[in-house]
Amino acid sequence: MIVVLRNEIERHETEALVAELEAEGFSTSVIQTGERLLIDAVGVASHFTAGIAKRLRANPIVATVVLSGSPYKLIAGTPTRPVTVGTLKIGGPDLIIMAGPCTVESPEQIEACAKAVSANGGTFLRGGAYKPSTSPYGFQGLGTEALQWLRESADAHGLMVITEVMDPRRVDEVSQYADILQLGSRNMQNFDLLKEVGRTQIPVLLKRGLAAKLTEWLLAAEYIASEGNNNIILCERGIRGFDDYTRNVLDLAVVPAIKGLSHLPVIVDPSHAAGRRDLIAPLSAAAIAVGADGLLIETHPNPPAAKKDGGQSLSFAEFEETMSGVTRIAGAMGRPIKSLAGRV
Ligand code: PEP
Ligand code: MN
Repeated sequence: MIVVLRNEIERHETEALVAELEAEGFSTSVIQTGERLLIDAVGVASHFTAGIAKRLRANPIVATVVLSGSPYKLIAGTPTRPVTVGTLKIGGPDLIIMAGPCTVESPEQIEACAKAVSANGGTFLRGGAYKPSTSPYGFQGLGTEALQWLRESADAHGLMVITEVMDPRRVDEVSQYADILQLGSRNMQNFDLLKEVGRTQIPVLLKRGLAAKLTEWLLAAEYIASEGNNNIILCERGIRGFDDYTRNVLDLAVVPAIKGLSHLPVIVDPSHAAGRRDLIAPLSAAAIAVGADGLLIETHPNPPAAKKDGGQSLSFAEFEETMSGVTRIAGAMGRPIKSLAGRV
């Protein structure tokens, strides 16, 4: 059993709880991870009397108690705990829509996207300034300039910004422009990067690795939490399958599965899963129906001319149509789409 203590408690309070657990037969070790203090209490079955977790949870110095032999501790437990980003909550009753191009190409392009995103129910503008590229000769983003354009257009339309950081040395820079740092699929197990963003308090969207098992993904999130940053949002973006009919296989089962294992919110990215724009609308609707807390969708003013991921990017008209379908499903699920009201 792991007893996770609240931050900023007195040493004597920890000692008293340790003594109490030892008196009940547990052998304990106190572990400091980042700013968090945990008590690992090991006991035989008879020590786990009915109600022990309930009693511990009622203790004002205890944040949470993890009873299972789960390999992840800090992110375990239900129900979903919303992550606060500015005035928004991700993982609360409202659904959050993040949308924009794969990559920021010009001030005009990102401005057009910001306008379309804000007009159609989006609250976050996405767009890469630092892009992972399979080929060393592929487009890798416009860097700092792109971050500036992204921020300016988002601000002009009352949107928040989500963008990828790939290099631990750039976490500070990207954090100056972003409200959420995206950790891409290819970096899900870049442990130095996970630890670096874990040392900040900036919300992190952790995409599932290209072929990551659910436990590996959750352990990657645990890396971030273990450094003290609990503002983590998971993003399912499809995993490698054997069929190239779609770019990846969207694993929708993982959404309710996570809801039973972890308190972290889950966003679904149908764009990188499908890799083709004709499947984005139905997959978006399905993601909401299985309980996703929001969507990450690629849209571009002129998809055939996009520098990256044009085949899966929606035109603005298609984005509008997709959002109207999503709105209907959201209504049926009793989860309104978070609007920008009050932010512009
Ligand atoms: C992206 O969001 O544009 C991206 C590169 O995503 P992923 O890491 O899921 O491939
Ligand atoms: Mn992309």
